[in-house]
Amino acid sequence: MSRRSKQVRKAAKRGARKARSEYGERMMTRYYRRAAKHEFRCAARGCKVRQGEPMAYRPAGSVKLCLRCAEEDPFVAQQLYDSASWALSPAGKARVAA
Ligand SMILES: [Zn+2]
Repeated sequence: MSRRSKQVRKAAKRGARKARSEYGERMMTRYYRRAAKHEFRCAARGCKVRQGEPMAYRPAGSVKLCLRCAEEDPFVAQQLYDSASWALSPAGKARVAA
């Protein structure tokens, strides 16, 4: 790896760390819509969510829910946000278009 790309990577990491420390607490307790990276069971009802399917994720405690349970729970729905990657994912695009 070249010296230059190492510097770029370092700067990116620094930026991410800074953003986390400034907005971390707010980000951690929100739920984010995103496409599932792996198959898992929803924490609310144990629904099976396959890779690539929409889900809601809260960084604090790594809470994973299927999108249906998340939207049915008023407390969760109230703090459900679209993640940056969600809007670009196939599942997110389909939803935005619908
Ligand atoms: Zn569920």
